[in-house]
Amino acid sequence: MKNEYDYLIVGSGLFGSVFAYEATKAGKKCLVIDKREHIGGNVHCENIEGINVHKYGAHIFHTNDKTLWNYVNQFVEFNNFTNSPMSLSKGKLYNLPFNMNTFYQLWGTKTPQEAKAKIDEQIAIYGVENPKNLEEQALSLVGKDIYDHFIKEYTEKQWGRKATELPAFIIKRLPVRFTFDNNYFNDTYQGIPIGGYNKLIEGLLEGIEVATKTDYFSDREKFNKLSDKIVYSGKIDEYFDYKLGVLEYRSLHFENEILETDNFQGNAVVNYNDADYDYTRIIEHKHFEFGKQNKTVITKEYPQEWNPGKEAFYPINDAKNQSLFDEYKKLSLEEKNVIFGGRLSEYKYYDMHQVIALALTRSKKELENG
Ligand code: UDP
Repeated sequence: MKNEYDYLIVGSGLFGSVFAYEATKAGKKCLVIDKREHIGGNVHCENIEGINVHKYGAHIFHTNDKTLWNYVNQFVEFNNFTNSPMSLSKGKLYNLPFNMNTFYQLWGTKTPQEAKAKIDEQIAIYGVENPKNLEEQALSLVGKDIYDHFIKEYTEKQWGRKATELPAFIIKRLPVRFTFDNNYFNDTYQGIPIGGYNKLIEGLLEGIEVATKTDYFSDREKFNKLSDKIVYSGKIDEYFDYKLGVLEYRSLHFENEILETDNFQGNAVVNYNDADYDYTRIIEHKHFEFGKQNKTVITKEYPQEWNPGKEAFYPINDAKNQSLFDEYKKLSLEEKNVIFGGRLSEYKYYDMHQVIALALTRSKKELENG
C-alpha cells in the first residue's frame, strides 16, 4: 500500500523548505515537520516593534551565482544591504574587513604601498614557517597589530579556548584588501529579503502541509510510516541515537533589548573585539532593512559552551569530531530511503546560499531518479 506522503521532511530550515518546494513542484506530496514553534530554522525572524529581528543571529544573504540569486528573489524581493561591520577595539572604532580604511585608522598609512610595507614588516618579525595553531597562523598572515586588535580576543571569546590551542584552519584565509572597500563579502549579489526571511520560507512552503511543534523523535515509528522517503535535516548523531558518540558544537546566547532611540549604533553589525566585553557583537536589526521606526532593537551575541540541551550553532570541526562525523556519514549512506542534508546533518557551517544550492542539487538528483 502506498504511504500517505511521498516525502516526510524533517526540519523546515532552508534545506528542508527548498527540497519541499522542488518536490511539490514535481508533483510529489510532502509533509514538513519542525520541532520548533515556527518554520524557517535559524533564518526565522521575530517581529518586535515592527522590526524583523534575526532571532538566531544575523543572516546576510550573499552569492556569486546569478541563478541562485534569481531563485530566492522569486519568493521575496531582496534589498541592496551591504554588510560593512565596524569593530570596536581598545576604545576605537575601525572598519572591517581589513582594508585601507582599517590600515589608515590603525597606522595612518595612506597608500596601498605603505600599508603593504607595514604588514610585510610585521609578518617578517612575527610570522612562522609552519603555523601550528590559530595564533601562529594569524601572525603569519597579517602580523601582530591586526592580530592583537581584531583577532586574538574575539576568537578566544568566540571559541572559549586560547588561540594557541585552536586549529589554524579556522582562519585559513583572512581577507586583506588594499582598497578603501568596507564590503565584508566579495560576492556579486548581496541583500536582505524586504520584509524579512519569513517571507522567503513562507514562499517556499506555500501550499505545502506543515506541522510545527512536531518532533520527529517523539514518535519515529509513526512518522516513518507516513511517507515513502524521509528528508532529514536534523543532527546526524541524533538520527542514529548518538550510538557512536556526540558531535560537539559551540553555542550562542542572544540578549535582545528594545531601546527608546531610533538609532543606537548607526550600523547593523558592530564587533566587540576586546575581552572586556563578554559578547562578540551587537546587531541593530533595523539597519538590515533601512528601518525608520522610532525605536530600535539590538541583540548582544554571547558565545557559549554547548551541551546537548542547547542550540547547536558552530560545528567544532576538529580532527576528533570530524572523524566521528565520518563514521556517522558511513551509516547514513546505508539508509536507503533517507536523504540527509543541511548544516546539522552534514556537520558543516554552511552559508545560506550553499545550503540552498545543495538542496537544489539533491532534490534534482532525487526527483530525476525517484
Ligand atoms: N574573526 C575575528 N575578528 C573579527 C571577526 C571574525 O577574529 O572581528 C574570526 C573569528 O575567529 C571567527 C571567524 O573569524 O570565529 C569567523 O567570523 P565571522 O564573523 O566571519 O563568521 P560568523 O560568526 O558571522 O559566521
